[in-house]
Amino acid sequence: MRYVSTRGSAPELGFADVLLAGLANDGGLYVPDHWPTLAPRRSAGGSYVERAVEVMLPFVEPDIDEITMTHLCTEAYATFRHPAVVPLIQIGENQWVQELFHGPTLAFKDVALQLVGKMFDHVLAKRQQRVTIVGATSGDTGSAAIDGVSGCDNVDIVILYPLGRTSDVQRRQMTTVDAPNAHAVAVEGTFDDCQDLVKAMFNDADFRARNNLSAVNSINWARVMAQTVYYVVAAETFAQPPTFVVPTGNFGNVLAGWIAREMGAPIKDFVLASNRNDILTRFVNDSDMTSRPVEPSLSPSMDIAVSSNFERLLFEMNGRDGAMTDEQLTGFRSTGRLDIEADQRSDFVEGTFRAAAFDDDSTLAEIARLNAATGMTVDPHTACGTAAARLFAGTGDQQGPMITLATAHPAKFPDAVEQATGERPELPPHLGDLFDRDERTQTVANDLGAVQALVEALTR
Ligand SMILES: *Cc1c(COP(=O)(O)O)cnc(C)c1O
Repeated sequence: MRYVSTRGSAPELGFADVLLAGLANDGGLYVPDHWPTLAPRRSAGGSYVERAVEVMLPFVEPDIDEITMTHLCTEAYATFRHPAVVPLIQIGENQWVQELFHGPTLAFKDVALQLVGKMFDHVLAKRQQRVTIVGATSGDTGSAAIDGVSGCDNVDIVILYPLGRTSDVQRRQMTTVDAPNAHAVAVEGTFDDCQDLVKAMFNDADFRARNNLSAVNSINWARVMAQTVYYVVAAETFAQPPTFVVPTGNFGNVLAGWIAREMGAPIKDFVLASNRNDILTRFVNDSDMTSRPVEPSLSPSMDIAVSSNFERLLFEMNGRDGAMTDEQLTGFRSTGRLDIEADQRSDFVEGTFRAAAFDDDSTLAEIARLNAATGMTVDPHTACGTAAARLFAGTGDQQGPMITLATAHPAKFPDAVEQATGERPELPPHLGDLFDRDERTQTVANDLGAVQALVEALTR
């Protein structure tokens, strides 16, 4: 497979180069030059890993062959603590939840990052290269990225997090990983400061080259690719094409579903669930994509002002015209408003996306309601999803099964869950001693020079 940039002027690359590059050098995001047709299932009762290899192989060949891919997927998904990897649980008539949180750090990001870590190590070993991954996190991404590469021989990782602003569970998941190549660093600043420091390190050409910097943020194509698999696997278990309800902020998760449907997976449509940061819901319902300041919510992993992965759908809406996509997004950056033609929008939205947004009170009420009705406890991100499923379930547009994606384990957000249900959710057994483990972390000033010196000292 060859990959092209959504901005149209970066060189075409193969999978391995796209994996390591993250962002294209024209500022765009890489996408495959065509959407492959979904391979039929070779064995009816096959495992998640078998199907994962079949779904992803066209995207990674010829850089990664089938035997290698099988090996990488087997290792990545052996870290999940459920035999089905991403089990489906029925919660009502025609209502299902797909639990994506059985990986090591209890959020759906493990599905992609466990595999991406293994792929990085494989590609780098073949090239006899070593990279330093730097990233900023407000919580979930950092721990999933650290865990994903913690056993890798050819990768160092340094994750910056805002001192005192992550939850205790989130911080400990980063600071208690016992691997010499993984480093969590507390910055005396906010999440935005951490992101700015990472950007500044990438923009320092000398520093970037000297340390072979790389990134695994949510715009990395390999993460989107790995997420297409659970849509395929879930959809294929139903006789009637299901609707997926997706708690999303950056549009990454729902984009993966859209791609699965493009490839031919039997999927009816998608419901996007937002929190109060509702740019995607405003786009779908009111044709309004205007960026507003981020407001903190109970579902922090969806607290975003701009949905970075939307760029890949926009490229499709523009008939894969990179120059036009670049122009629109450059305009968006300067005005904070993305202008999309009405008929262009409706071709892509009607019959494909519906959306709803929920504030913190509705989120808490939904956690309590679902718990009372079914005994199931969900985290605040998932609750936005089940609330959206309930909103649309009774309407004329809705036929067939609905599957809400459960993106985090409730114990990852114990305060919100306890506030809603009166009960504090317990960490699963493999993390039961999280609060007894030794933490390994460093604190650094919100200063580029200090952070760069620390990165070099840690990865030497
Ligand atoms: C990252 C995350 C999301 C949002 O994912 P998108 O990439 O924005 O679609 C939702 N829920 C949880 C728990 C997350 O960690």
